Amino acid sequence: MPLVLYNTLGRTANEFIPCRAGEVGFYGCGPTVYNYAHIGNLRAYVSHDLLVRLLRRRGYTVKHVMNVTDVGHLTGDNDEGDDKMVRSAEERGKSVLEVAAFYTDAFFHDTERLNITRPNVVCKATEHIDEMIALVKRLETNGFTYRSGGNLYFDISRFPRYGELARLKPDELKAGARVSIDGNKRNPHDFVLWFTKSKFENQALVWDSPWGRGYPGWHIECSAMSMKYLGEQFDIHAGGIDHIQVHHSNEIAQSEAATGIHPWVKLWFHNEFLVLNKGKMSKSSGGFITLQNLVDAGYAALDYRYFLLGGHYRSQLQFSYESLTGAQNARKSLLGSLRHLAEKQEGVLPSVDGAVCGKAAEHLVLFDTALDDDLSTPKALAALWGLLKDTDVPPGDALRAAFQMDTVLGLDLAKELAILLDAPVQIRGDCAEIETAIAERAAAKKAKDFTKADAIRTSLKAKGIILEDSPQGTTWRVE
Ligand code: AMP
Ligand code: ZN
Repeated sequence: MPLVLYNTLGRTANEFIPCRAGEVGFYGCGPTVYNYAHIGNLRAYVSHDLLVRLLRRRGYTVKHVMNVTDVGHLTGDNDEGDDKMVRSAEERGKSVLEVAAFYTDAFFHDTERLNITRPNVVCKATEHIDEMIALVKRLETNGFTYRSGGNLYFDISRFPRYGELARLKPDELKAGARVSIDGNKRNPHDFVLWFTKSKFENQALVWDSPWGRGYPGWHIECSAMSMKYLGEQFDIHAGGIDHIQVHHSNEIAQSEAATGIHPWVKLWFHNEFLVLNKGKMSKSSGGFITLQNLVDAGYAALDYRYFLLGGHYRSQLQFSYESLTGAQNARKSLLGSLRHLAEKQEGVLPSVDGAVCGKAAEHLVLFDTALDDDLSTPKALAALWGLLKDTDVPPGDALRAAFQMDTVLGLDLAKELAILLDAPVQIRGDCAEIETAIAERAAAKKAKDFTKADAIRTSLKAKGIILEDSPQGTTWRVE
């Protein structure tokens, strides 16, 4: 069965076919680092992670790029309000870069706790100003810009496809159809490419540009950085549904107007919101829950990941502590079942990359079919439970299939099991081979042959074996 994914562009679910065989370019809009991520934001990043893991399980080489917004994002996506970073820095009595560094670290601490695989490229807006200026220059050369009130704007009247992603109606696009707060705009949907003195006299970070000293509009960073790392056309662009209307519509307009390539991105992947008591959770409203709040309340970060797996990424998910407790209990009982199976195996676990056969394979097919159906994690979880409850499946086969499922679910089952068993989880058949490879790598490192050392690590990684170095030596675990 082919992998079928829903595409916001066109609003249909189709077989996923990448631009280049075997490779996937994936860009997910990253955090604006003016505050902690709330658990709604983290839903977005878990969704990206699940899709990337699934694509890798399907054999694709995925290049995952994520930006970190540390300049230019205003409190309103339509160029309205204050700069989020500047406001946060003022409130905290810190510099913008200090605030950005602090919350970037906090963000990656959260994503690690949620077992989100780190993107291949993490790129900061402030380190890509040259690329943004170069892109805006292309837009200017192609005739898509105008200057007004000191800013440089994108002129949507020059881009007839504007609003295709958001399905904006023609009358919504007419100039003056909606009162714009920014009187410099010819059309309310026009947006800033480059700000100069017209806004925020006290802007902390400014750069020289052909349009004066200033700073970029928010949207240009994602176009500039995604194309820098993935090329002028790529496969998947991800973000929360709130970005369809403005941010992603603007990204498409800028990118396609600059390159002339349509479609810029083949598939738009949008996650629905995590909601609290039917209301949206938002950073700016202040009333938000962080991952640390959940940990402080006695939950493991992976309980939250399990909770998220229970909802389809395109459905709204209502958060409550009762539901989180349900997820916590379910994860506990999942690990209990695995422990039971491992004890029958006397703690020696089968290899994750070994073939799954017999009845276990039938459950794995159900699991894969669920994920191929637009990443249906609730059905995939049900397949995992079906496997564990099936007493006809030999324990070794069940464990092997469960670990294979976990390469997408990301519940870190082997590691969690090792903690429960209070012993490192060993993999039958592969142990000697892995230990030999670790010794070879240590020898290579000692001889300063880092190319060989890295090659050994990479070849083990390809088999799902992760090496962890510490002052005590190197240990390994199943990915
Ligand atoms: P931000 O840091 O505000 O740019 O948001 C980071 C990501 O979280 C974006 O992809 C948003 O679309 C997404 N997001 C924001 N709020 C929620 C929510 N309550 N549930 C799910 N995703 C969200
Ligand atoms: Zn973006």
